[in-house]
Amino acid sequence: MRSMSAVPADKNKRGFSMAVSYKPQLNYLDFRDLTEQIQFQSTEGKIWFGEQRMLLMHLNALAAFRREMVNSMGVERAKGFFLRLGYQSGIRDAELARKLRPHCSELDIFLAGPQLHSLKGMVKVVPLEIDIDQDTGEFYGKLEWIDSFEVEICQTELGPMDQPACWALLGYACAYTSSFMGREIIFREISCRGCGDEKCVIEGKPAEQWEDAEEFSRYFKADPIMEELYDLQAQLSSLRISLKKQQGQYYGIGQSASYNKVCKMIDKAAQGKVSVLLLGETGVGKEVIARSVHLRSERADSPFVAVNCAAIPPDLIEAELFGVEKGAYTGANQSREGRFERANGGTIFLDEVVELTPRAQATLLRVLQEGELERVGDNRTRKVNVRVIAATNESLEQAVEAGRFRADLFYRLNVFPVKIPPLRERVEDLPLLVEHFLGKFHSEYDKQTLGLSDKALALCMSYGWPGNIRELENVIERGVILTDNNESISEESLFAVSPLVNASPPADCVDTGGKVTCSQSGGGPKDWFEHILGNGISLEEVEETLMRSALERANQNVSKAARLLGLTRPALAYRLKKSGILAET
Ligand SMILES: [Zn+2]
Repeated sequence: MRSMSAVPADKNKRGFSMAVSYKPQLNYLDFRDLTEQIQFQSTEGKIWFGEQRMLLMHLNALAAFRREMVNSMGVERAKGFFLRLGYQSGIRDAELARKLRPHCSELDIFLAGPQLHSLKGMVKVVPLEIDIDQDTGEFYGKLEWIDSFEVEICQTELGPMDQPACWALLGYACAYTSSFMGREIIFREISCRGCGDEKCVIEGKPAEQWEDAEEFSRYFKADPIMEELYDLQAQLSSLRISLKKQQGQYYGIGQSASYNKVCKMIDKAAQGKVSVLLLGETGVGKEVIARSVHLRSERADSPFVAVNCAAIPPDLIEAELFGVEKGAYTGANQSREGRFERANGGTIFLDEVVELTPRAQATLLRVLQEGELERVGDNRTRKVNVRVIAATNESLEQAVEAGRFRADLFYRLNVFPVKIPPLRERVEDLPLLVEHFLGKFHSEYDKQTLGLSDKALALCMSYGWPGNIRELENVIERGVILTDNNESISEESLFAVSPLVNASPPADCVDTGGKVTCSQSGGGPKDWFEHILGNGISLEEVEETLMRSALERANQNVSKAARLLGLTRPALAYRLKKSGILAET
């Protein structure tokens, strides 16, 4: 059991009461690993904390907002909103703490939560007593909150409350600790300056150890008003979906102007009988569009058959498309119908149509002109009524010029060409598509991630997507697989190798003293090795510099420096000796 308990009377030099029976490895007041996560991308209008986008906002504004909420919906409801507000950021910070301190003791990892509360300017947290055992799930915590921003709101805007007032802070503590422990931990404010007590003190333990746990947990469930709204919303969207299905209007997902234009074209094409030619890069969703043409047409109740012409060996394609009679060639042991006969009355989708052999092209032309075909090895003519939707990602005109594609067939197919834009020309649809694929893979893998981190989404928005929607689908699937429940999907879990996106603008960092430092020439995490390689700096020099900086940061404490570098103390000591640094110190 890791524990840290305190005798309140025992003041130590850090200015808060903490008699420690188990010492955290890290100095509680030294959390530069957290401070360093803050980046000001001022020219871009963004502040980052790790991979999450943050806001600097006025406490006054939040105070006014809180007063308005209390006045318009009452204390209980407002309290619920603020508890849930804190809850959301607690979950995210627990994730960050685990990532940033993988090699630390569980107590040091846990303390990142209180430290983050201080770092964000919300409250100074003084741990009085903490018992953690992640293995058994035991938890007890008692902490004091000094200078809570919520108490300040009471003092400036709301006046004294008749119950504890540090709502968002409490929601944060509950979420952070529950996520950290992997079980429901509830904190209560046992005294609060916001309601006239001398101090704000919170106590936390597993939910089942509180008598009124169930009642309290209700605050974390969405508000009844919201639930009703969500219910209505859900009903509305399911009605919309069924309506769309009824009308066969499912085109896939998108709301961008360029995609809407395509949808309008498809609307027009669907009603008629003409062949449709879908043009566009690989992965843009041609089959989805072809299916929607079918669903919107009078043929919706008849079969829709999709064929990728490039996936079928050339010597089999005729038999596959148009059928074969027994004995037509060695191996044709029985007669069978082709895809065109199977699609009779409905629609056939021929993807990569340019791959058809000359003989298959001739038969296809006959189907389009006469509505009839003969199976391979047969001399009986069969009538078929099939609408053809063809697709290609290379220019058919060029194939005609090169003599690979019949000109007369091209004119037949090209009656109604529709160009589907690549994903990079409709990035505004990307968040919708991401949501769609997240939903799909969450249910496929029975998982629930927190979705893309803000940075991961920003990367997706600026990436070129040469493989289009299919590539996006694969990337999201990878992200869902690599991300644990209740964690957000990071850039690294989306892309094995980070794609080169337009060099990101310089970001300012907060130094350990809390000052904003200007970065030099980008200075992003991806640029450092460019800098090293470009300037002919040797591996030895890099190692030496790293070790010197780690020592400096650790106040020449070798054990601490070793931890910073992810090494054992002996391993670092050996390297220090070898490079002659240790002799100097
Ligand atoms: Zn309080």
